[in-house]
Amino acid sequence: MNTASTMDISVSKTAQSRISQLNPDNIQFGKLYADHMLVADYQDGMWGAPAIVPFGNLSLSPATTFMHYGQAIFEGIKAYKDPQGNPIIFRPHDNWNRFNRSAERMAMPAVPEEIFMEGLRRLVDLDRDWVPSGEGTSLYLRPFMLATDEFIGVRPATHFKFMIITSPAGPYYSKPVSIYVQDKYVRAFPGGTGFAKNAGNYGACMYPTQQVREMGYDQILWTDGIHHRFVQEIGTMNVFFKLGDTVVTPDLNGDTILAGVTRDSILTLLREKGVKVEERPLPIDELEAAAKEGKLLEAFGAGTAASIAPIADLTFEDQHMKLPPIETWEVANWLIQELAAIRYGRKEDRHGWIFRV
Ligand SMILES: *Cc1c(COP(=O)(O)O)cnc(C)c1O
Repeated sequence: MNTASTMDISVSKTAQSRISQLNPDNIQFGKLYADHMLVADYQDGMWGAPAIVPFGNLSLSPATTFMHYGQAIFEGIKAYKDPQGNPIIFRPHDNWNRFNRSAERMAMPAVPEEIFMEGLRRLVDLDRDWVPSGEGTSLYLRPFMLATDEFIGVRPATHFKFMIITSPAGPYYSKPVSIYVQDKYVRAFPGGTGFAKNAGNYGACMYPTQQVREMGYDQILWTDGIHHRFVQEIGTMNVFFKLGDTVVTPDLNGDTILAGVTRDSILTLLREKGVKVEERPLPIDELEAAAKEGKLLEAFGAGTAASIAPIADLTFEDQHMKLPPIETWEVANWLIQELAAIRYGRKEDRHGWIFRV
């Protein structure tokens, strides 16, 4: 059933488009936002009708809950132009599901499918000229929700704001990253919020990330909060290692790993291709042993922003593990091509991953 058509979304168009500020040959991510945004407010236990309005500032009381207590969640999705020039969105339904899992963990209300999905569709349709068409480019879609009670007492809020803003993204140059294996600070621990895409997870990672940048590394490989031994994710991406002929990624049993849509896409494509894949706990000493035996063949991060981010080397305590040159990586290079072909609608969508605007 298509509930979409019954959805009442009011649209107030901008008087003056800013599209002329967009230089498709030099897109700086996050600097420029498309003309419109979607807003929906929740109060008295229900969502009000969403509205599409010109992109612009919010006016909020300084006592607004999320500013103080971090009840805030978000998603990251990309829209691409297909070969016919139509905007298509990659697996947004999965992001909607995850958004509501994050919402539950943060004591926030679920956003109904029709508000999230139809909101995305209408917004991307209206701002379709903002979806760039060059290889590697996209329109980044950022749904988010904030607790908006005007109250600095501590309690779960009762007013919320759901919004979607969008920003053109240029090609991501995946220069291989240098990784520091973190065994002091942690990103996630059992019972925590690691599986949720909440603002605080990111805030808490800034300091450790700044520290390793000063030491000359690009990103952190997070290890588990109890033993500091099992690998979790790199930076804000899921992580994959090719050990011999098997691709291994940490499993989702537990609540410390964020269930990436890119991660799931990769696992699906690899299994279909007949590549051996394992989702399981992965101790850092196994990586060290594999590196010593010459079996650590490929390593990469996976997420919507970078798609696949190859790892050049890993440093753990006094151990330095170097990966072979990327040109030799069969799995990652195949995945980069395959994912791009599906996302840009050049290849048949056999999985129902493409959402047509
Ligand atoms: C968003 C995110 C990812 C990647 O998820 P995708 O759905 O693939 O974009 C991985 N890890 C963390 C911590 C994240 O926040």
